[in-house]
Amino acid sequence: MKKIQIELIDIKCADCKKSILRMFKTKDSEDIFHLTVSCPFCEGESWSVELKGKHHQQTVEGTKIDDFITVDHENILIKVIKDAR
Ligand SMILES: [Zn+2]
Repeated sequence: MKKIQIELIDIKCADCKKSILRMFKTKDSEDIFHLTVSCPFCEGESWSVELKGKHHQQTVEGTKIDDFITVDHENILIKVIKDAR
């Protein structure tokens, strides 16, 4: 069995402190990007999080990803909204 080190980053809102998105590292690489996530629970957003390598994102319950916005070559904004189901 291949040993995989799971690196999980829990991104929280800077305003209401709720977890708004989780990022799993899927591959190591030299790529560094800065991620900001808008909060579905308030008008706020997370702090900018530095991530290295490739990641897979997982939404928290009751939310979904609305949009990926590439601000520039290393800054990404993910808009998370409430999943109205
Ligand atoms: Zn919030």
